[in-house]
Amino acid sequence: MEMETDLVRENILRIRENVRNAAVRCGRDPEDVAIMAVTKTVAPELVNIAVDCGITLLGENRVQEFQAKRESYRPQAQVHFIGHLQTNKVKYLVGEVEMIHSVDRMSLANEIERCAEKRGIVQDILLEVNIGGEESKSGVCPDALPQLLAQAAALPHVHICGLMTIPPPTQSSRHLEAMQKLFADCKASPVPNTEMRILSMGMSGDYEAAIACGSNLVRIGSALFGARK
Ligand SMILES: *Cc1c(COP(=O)(O)O)cnc(C)c1O
Repeated sequence: MEMETDLVRENILRIRENVRNAAVRCGRDPEDVAIMAVTKTVAPELVNIAVDCGITLLGENRVQEFQAKRESYRPQAQVHFIGHLQTNKVKYLVGEVEMIHSVDRMSLANEIERCAEKRGIVQDILLEVNIGGEESKSGVCPDALPQLLAQAAALPHVHICGLMTIPPPTQSSRHLEAMQKLFADCKASPVPNTEMRILSMGMSGDYEAAIACGSNLVRIGSALFGARK
């Protein structure tokens, strides 16, 4: 644990430096880029080391894992859900996480609406885009995004805050650029009751390139906590 703790601290220093440099290189304010710690398979004690170092934004992939670990997290942790989401699990997340990044279909948005209305809250979400058009991946295809955006924007207890993507590992920069353009297009034709303020893009292998393409929320797992077992 001691060794792992030191390693996480070193990793955070390096990641912060890399984020700062990547932002400065393209003339952006490093403060505009949020660093999320992706916690899947990581012991809560180690996650809390990151929180104590100021990485208070946590990304959870699995509903059950979130439920098992949440009580152990420091109170200042803000949890977002970033994993693929089944409709029948929505009720465990609405009002329990600050944001859901992986909304890619109306059936899911409708269920979030239903649960949020029941709880009397408005749930922040991002729309997940399948920018590489990979069949195996979740996310709405770019052509269908305007329709999903318009329909989900009409739900009174759902608040769209931006877009999220997991680009294919190959030809990553081409997909990052495509996503940058899509985000800009969405910003250029605003839909009432929505915001386009968050572009959640970039993981351990491509976060610097993602920042160069306008990402303002990078989701980092293995570069922070080490390779997953
Ligand atoms: C696992 C995961 C990450 C982090 O991946 P690393 O390559 O370990 O940084 C980011 N986003 C999502 C949606 C993930 O599932």
